[in-house]
Amino acid sequence: MKPETIDLRSDTVTRPTKAMRAAMAEAEVGDDVIDIDPTAERLQQLTAELLGKEAAIFMPSGSMTNQIAVRLHCRPGDEFLCESGCHIYNYEQGAFAQLSGVVARTVEGEHGVLQLAQLEDLIRPQNDHLVRTRLVCLENTHNRGAGRVQPYPVVEAITGWAQSHGLRTHLDGARLFNAVAATGIAAEQWAKHFDTVSVCFSKGLGAPVGSALAGPRDLIREARRHRKLFGGGMRQVGVIAAGALFALEHHRDRLAEDHANARILAEAIRNSPGLKLVPDLVESNMVIFAVDPALGSATDFMAALQQAGVLMLSISPAKIRAVTHLDVDSKQVRKAGEIIRQCAERLSSVSRR
Ligand SMILES: *Cc1c(COP(=O)(O)O)cnc(C)c1O
Repeated sequence: MKPETIDLRSDTVTRPTKAMRAAMAEAEVGDDVIDIDPTAERLQQLTAELLGKEAAIFMPSGSMTNQIAVRLHCRPGDEFLCESGCHIYNYEQGAFAQLSGVVARTVEGEHGVLQLAQLEDLIRPQNDHLVRTRLVCLENTHNRGAGRVQPYPVVEAITGWAQSHGLRTHLDGARLFNAVAATGIAAEQWAKHFDTVSVCFSKGLGAPVGSALAGPRDLIREARRHRKLFGGGMRQVGVIAAGALFALEHHRDRLAEDHANARILAEAIRNSPGLKLVPDLVESNMVIFAVDPALGSATDFMAALQQAGVLMLSISPAKIRAVTHLDVDSKQVRKAGEIIRQCAERLSSVSRR
């Protein structure tokens, strides 16, 4: 018999639970392009409420929420500041340039965390040669930073500085509820420092599809126009909004379990020859580790894991990311940890011969 697969590639791989599917099947729907879909409307209201914003709008992806946020805050020829590993810059095909004529200025953080002092001199003076600095984007938790939670005082300092200089602020909160679970700081507390905030329902919360952008009512009204322009107007969207609503109502509190499971995984990696956590820090549902070249490449190591039934994702030639989520329990995570250790031991003994 084939061993069961333990899929740690991403927290996006979760399948809707039975109860979630039931909520989706029974969702009340309408045409959300002509006027409104009642289920999407309820989701948008709850999202806005949790984030302490006037309004929110449901969209098909987190990339769309981020790119529409950039478009709301910037005009062609404007620039935004961001951390060099962030999703908006690295994993959205430079859509800010392709779709909105905006440039990004990246600043290298420490595992995704910037300090105010790194930004203070970066606002461009008024001069016909220069782009205009308009926006600061932060990411919480930070994906490339191995799920790192932004330190709250850093968020306060950077956003406070941005506002005092007339810059807009956007939070890529694809995993903001993980930051909430990790710190106990409410979503609203994090969100109040930003003009706009995006959240994903399709990551740790476990919905099949969807994200939302929250902010002031006038900006969200404008975002609705841009969503239509970008092809994101959806008709009886309540069917998928119901999955997102179910996730938001029922799956926030359990994120702490994913974090505990990530710590189990981290412990196994620490105890494996030739593997090293980078950073050696587990704050939410993710770990990133480097594979010693003596064991082979990240791809070699992942092939060995896959043979034993564990899936992960390589994020560079020597680095692998593993993410815990709703569809893996602590027993499976312990088993995955055991498999990691066995693969590392086997490959390191081969390399010693
Ligand atoms: C997943 C993710 C997004 C959005 O991704 P989509 O696949 O477009 O939904 C944005 N930011 C971060 C940090 C992410 O991890």
